[in-house]
Amino acid sequence: MPVTAIVGANWGDEGKGKMTDALASQSKIVIRYQGGSNAGHTIINEYGKFALHLLPSGVFTPGAINVIGPGVAFHTGDFFKELEQLLAKGVPAPDIRISDRAQLVLPYHQLFDELEEGRLGDRQFGSTKKGIAPFYSDKYLKLGVQVADLFEEQRLRERLEAALAAKNVLLPHLYGHTPLSADDLIGKLLQDGARLAPYVCDTGKLVRDALARGEQLLAEGQLGALRDPDHGIYPFSTSSSTLAGFATVGAGVPPASITRIVAVTKAYSSCVGAGPFVTELSGDTADELRRRGGDAGEFGATTGRPRRMGWFDAVATRYGCEVQGATEVALTNLDVLGYLDAIPVCTAYELAGGAHTEQFPVSARLDEARPVLRTLPGWNTDISAARQFAELPPAAQQYVLELEKLIGVRIRWVSVGPRREQLIDRG
Ligand code: GDP
Repeated sequence: MPVTAIVGANWGDEGKGKMTDALASQSKIVIRYQGGSNAGHTIINEYGKFALHLLPSGVFTPGAINVIGPGVAFHTGDFFKELEQLLAKGVPAPDIRISDRAQLVLPYHQLFDELEEGRLGDRQFGSTKKGIAPFYSDKYLKLGVQVADLFEEQRLRERLEAALAAKNVLLPHLYGHTPLSADDLIGKLLQDGARLAPYVCDTGKLVRDALARGEQLLAEGQLGALRDPDHGIYPFSTSSSTLAGFATVGAGVPPASITRIVAVTKAYSSCVGAGPFVTELSGDTADELRRRGGDAGEFGATTGRPRRMGWFDAVATRYGCEVQGATEVALTNLDVLGYLDAIPVCTAYELAGGAHTEQFPVSARLDEARPVLRTLPGWNTDISAARQFAELPPAAQQYVLELEKLIGVRIRWVSVGPRREQLIDRG
């Protein structure tokens, strides 16, 4: 199994970071292949608690090579900030390689993200304002700046001037903001280049050579299937593909090398930001689940925003697993539900007009969908010390098996707490 992809089956925040950290020891190389520092992976291990935004989750695993692939939206300041936080907590200096083809999130991307969300007002998308949408817009407009451009001053200046030409028309006329100058950016970017140089290489070659030697690789997705721009809840999607299939592009691994796809899902639902969320709860029920969820309540790892909470959504999760091409599922946060006597699960959607469907609808149909719920027995006990499936109370086992039937993919992993060792492998 040369490449394992660990990806989200839902809206993100499923616990991918924990699963990558737990499985990283089996892999020589851990690769981030899309997105930027706009989402966080929470990891709790012997060094403490970390929220990784840009660094691959293999940075705690001795001997692992951590690759930031060409598909990533790379922010130099965020990269060094995270690395320094790791070293300050006593983590040994990780082996990190940054693709020379990765493109840079620049200050004007963040500025445009803020200005545009401000302009949209009530209609905004709930951006984390990390510049990700303007970054990917520039990339596909061929106005991006690659990491390798930092080492060629003349080329860097030309790339910046090309990127700023149209922006400097929009800034005063659409946003009432003063124009920007390449001269103001270039000095700092050249300094960034000098700091980054030891980490930069052709990661495509590194990865292909490792595969040729028969080594195991782990590709780590960010956010989840429902945030994919093509298959998700567009326009409340992110700007790069969140699918395992995109690892072939964003990491540069051959399509046929991805033989194992672990789709991560929570035992309930959570969602940050705007957009349709069919099983959403409100009031005290939502507050209690939010307070008990995750390792310290369900609040965004990047933004601190309270996450929207809902019951497990089998329609969305089955679809998420299908578009990911999941070969196995990791079910996280099962311990969180241990306070409930009975647990509702969404098995179908009711659409306008009353028809029921088990297929995840296109965005135009999703707003009107209502959850059809079935209630499963709760176990009302703490399961966080269980390490074998048989140690779980019968109702918790039944909950897992019922979800497995509903989503149609084997649940191999059951996570019963945020720490690395709180994990059941059903084999
Ligand atoms: P990611 O972006 O998919 O890595 O997910 P996040 O880190 O944003 O959110 C997952 C949250 O659940 C974090 O607070 C984790 O520490 C926490 N977590 C992961 N697995 C478990 C689990 O099995 N039980 C509990 N209680 N928390 C978990």
